[in-house]
Amino acid sequence: MSLKPHVSITKQREAYARVKGICIICGKKLSASESRWSVDHFIPRAIYKWVPDKKTKELIESVDNIFVVHPQCNFSKDSALPTNQAIKNMHAEKKVKDTMRDLYKEAEDSIVAYRAMKQSTLDGQKKRCAICGKQLSLNNATMRRINNHKGRNRENAMCLCDKCNIRAGSPGQKRRMINKRQRTVPCLPEL
Ligand SMILES: [Zn+2]
Ligand SMILES: [Zn+2]
Repeated sequence: MSLKPHVSITKQREAYARVKGICIICGKKLSASESRWSVDHFIPRAIYKWVPDKKTKELIESVDNIFVVHPQCNFSKDSALPTNQAIKNMHAEKKVKDTMRDLYKEAEDSIVAYRAMKQSTLDGQKKRCAICGKQLSLNNATMRRINNHKGRNRENAMCLCDKCNIRAGSPGQKRRMINKRQRTVPCLPEL
């Protein structure tokens, strides 16, 4: 997931108004100034990027799936995929949750396909981070491309821990990290 998603200010303000200025993650008030907001796609964009589907993309980019939250809340949110339990736990009115639940149902096939690809990638790495070798679970792994010049598919996928994922956010840095691990990525038992 990109750390700086491009979502128009109009859409962000609409998202802010929908939750009456309350952060859905912690339940506390947000600043009225948009420079203090962080944009969260409740169902992450990664899903339509790895499992391309026009309808799912529209659902994920719709304002119903976009929330403005505290930057620190967004940061502490793990890489877990949304679940009905997570929707239940949202600090939001019933109406907002009901809409989110409908959207989730519509996107469910894509979410399931994405989760399966991630699980298969992680299993191929013996459930370890592709870079540092740290043990990973499905919920704390982030899927990234091995080679940025190739498409998003199972063959070009690797799972990283949070720390390596942040470092790999810079393409140059990612290339260096991969080169260092060339012999063992993505077959990792030797790490
Ligand atoms: Zn918050
Ligand atoms: Zn790592």
